[in-house]
Amino acid sequence: MIHHFDAIVLGGGAAGLMCAIEAGKRGRRVAVLEHADRLGKKILISGGGRCNFTNLHCGPENFLSANPHFAKSALARYTPEDFIALVTKHRIPFHEKTLGQLFCDRSARDILELLEEECREGGVSFFLNTKIQEVTRTSEFIVRVAGGAFHAPALVVATGGLSIPKMGATAFGYDLARQFGLKIREPWPGLVPLVLSGEDRSRYCDLAGVSAEVIASCDGQQFREKMLITHRGLSGPAVLQISSYWKKPQRIRIDLAPGAEVTAVFRDAKTPRTLTALRTEFRKTLPQRFADRWLELHAPSAWTNSALADFENAAHGWEVAPAGTEGYEKAEVTAGGVDTDELSAKTMESRKVTGLYFVGEVVDVTGQLGGFNFQWAWASGAAAGRAL
Ligand SMILES: Cc1cc2nc3c(=O)[nH]c(=O)nc-3n(C[C@H](O)[C@H](O)[C@H](O)COP(=O)(O)OP(=O)(O)OC[C@H]3O[C@@H](n4cnc5c(N)ncnc54)[C@H](O)[C@@H]3O)c2cc1C
Repeated sequence: MIHHFDAIVLGGGAAGLMCAIEAGKRGRRVAVLEHADRLGKKILISGGGRCNFTNLHCGPENFLSANPHFAKSALARYTPEDFIALVTKHRIPFHEKTLGQLFCDRSARDILELLEEECREGGVSFFLNTKIQEVTRTSEFIVRVAGGAFHAPALVVATGGLSIPKMGATAFGYDLARQFGLKIREPWPGLVPLVLSGEDRSRYCDLAGVSAEVIASCDGQQFREKMLITHRGLSGPAVLQISSYWKKPQRIRIDLAPGAEVTAVFRDAKTPRTLTALRTEFRKTLPQRFADRWLELHAPSAWTNSALADFENAAHGWEVAPAGTEGYEKAEVTAGGVDTDELSAKTMESRKVTGLYFVGEVVDVTGQLGGFNFQWAWASGAAAGRAL
């Protein structure tokens, strides 16, 4: 059977659905082809089941891309307020958790239902369990699936990145981009826990579950948030954030006592310069077990001012050389992707192939933790949807 549409959207996730909504609103006949048995599976598990659907303080600086200017246009034309207006229209209760991060009060299902309802209003057709066999282009795009084909003058690739393969992530979008001669920036797992080297693992990982507020920095970026020790390494928001900027064999620098001067107490000559006194001070900034372990491993070499200064510096600049990351199985996003030089920043259309669009995570634009990845999915999806 052959289906004719104005636009075919490959992938029924956040970006694909938003694109379909915007195009459907403008009277375009849109088909969304999704290989899973339901739409928006990642939306359902996002934000711990509550979907951190946007961030009030969203700006281009919250995104990682080889071209830091690329995302500006789409982000300016579909803002967090635009998505909040949709959420409000659907009477979905939400709250700001921290740092501008907006979450559903009830469940991420609310966001998926919102998108599905908007799609229905726009007359969007869904084809689930649809395995794409081949994409070709003659005077229009032809997408072959088992038992039929879809024809349309426009094709939107919204198949996401490689993160969480067990949820249906595939390299399909990158392969299709290559098929049409578009460049790819080699993808890597982002927002992912880091694995420590064997030596560091034996030093720290028995403390799994301990967390502390730190400043993690690497490659000119820094994040002041919680760090969590895991069975294999480090995680928590500060480490997830910095992981997107880290590449082996770089080191990550961790300030274990942000804003505090652990050894300040020793300026008072009356305070005895002992391990016990230092431990008491360090426990004010770090959880007890971590403070004690750090001191066992990095006790001052002497009680002189200069040795105390060295200790202070080491505590503010723990240099960690991770052995790797937990990979795509645990990564919240995939960084890299379709090179933004290949796309129009206004419409997401390929500069080389008329009618071919890429939106969402498959593009080399990666948000920081905190609702920015969905905001990019909404903004890039809307940019393409308005151009179809
Ligand atoms: C555990 C987890 C929690 C997250 N929480 C948040 C959060 O709270 N806030 C936030 O901003 N971001 C969060 N993210 C990131 C966010 O989910 C993604 O950045 C966003 O979903 C990307 O949207 P997308 O539409 O580009 O891709 P996806 O949502 O991945 O959608 C791609 C769709 O394409 C389909 N597909 C793939 N290959 C094919 C194919 N060959 N044929 C047909 N269909 C195909 C997939 O099944 C999927 O439905 C989270 C990610 C994870 C993994």
